[in-house]
Amino acid sequence: MNVDKTGVLYVVATPIGNRADITQRALSVLASVDQVLAEDTRHSGTLLRTLGIGTPLLSLHEHNEQVQVDPVLARLRSGADLALISDAGTPLISDPGYRIVRAARQAGIQVIPIPGPSALIAALSVAGLPTDRFVFEGFLPAKTAARRAHLQSLAGETRTLVFYEASHRIQECLSDLDACFGAEREAVIARELTKTFEQVHAGTLAELNAWIAADANRQRGEFVVLLAGAAPTADAELDAEAQRVLKLLLAELPVKRAAALAAEITGARKNALYQYALQHP
Ligand code: SAM
Repeated sequence: MNVDKTGVLYVVATPIGNRADITQRALSVLASVDQVLAEDTRHSGTLLRTLGIGTPLLSLHEHNEQVQVDPVLARLRSGADLALISDAGTPLISDPGYRIVRAARQAGIQVIPIPGPSALIAALSVAGLPTDRFVFEGFLPAKTAARRAHLQSLAGETRTLVFYEASHRIQECLSDLDACFGAEREAVIARELTKTFEQVHAGTLAELNAWIAADANRQRGEFVVLLAGAAPTADAELDAEAQRVLKLLLAELPVKRAAALAAEITGARKNALYQYALQHP
């Protein structure tokens, strides 16, 4: 601890199953800070011990995070370097830490990420669904009505959707996805990533519902569920300028000619313009 300087808050990713996934930087930061803020000190104590790290732990979880903000800021101001970890993966990603990180940044304290595993990125990297744009939805609401209402609100989403799900709700989740997005929508189940029984299984929602029901072992463990986005509509594909040009041309020309000219002028796809014209007579 250096009392002449303000401390640093490191936000450190830890493994999501396979302990060999800890990074070199995570090891050296966890070993050198004055204290590690951990979601579950027993769980993280075991991890640190197996890594040969004896840094003292302080409990910081969902239920005490708010009251810990001021004491943690005081420790940082007094020169202590701290590392924030969660039970698994990257802190703040469906895990505590948001309030502490926000307060530290607002107080002008340096917050440094030590990146590493996160189930959502690991799942996306192997799912074979588009990753150029995606939406992380985290955990769905636990109650059926709220879950379905939330899923309905995502009906038009064209980006790949990523959900976290617990084993006791995975079947309900998949059947609600089927009810809201249709049995033919493509999806991927990424289960127990980096662990002994890792499985990544792709199919339509109908196939995935049957696959998970067929074997109780497939319903165990931790899950990421990824859903292909909806096919883009012509409206979503065309920007405001393309729509404006097309409308002007449609006032004077037949649909096919207007779409072709609008494509030349704006660079938008001729077929998308043609479809848009048909959908907006
Ligand atoms: N902070 C973590 C991260 O960066 O991925 C997520 C923590 S959240 C409380 C736990 C959820 O993440 C699990 O219920 C599951 O949905 C997902 N998850 C975590 N580890 C996983 C794994 N090894 N395989 C699949 N999903 C996992």
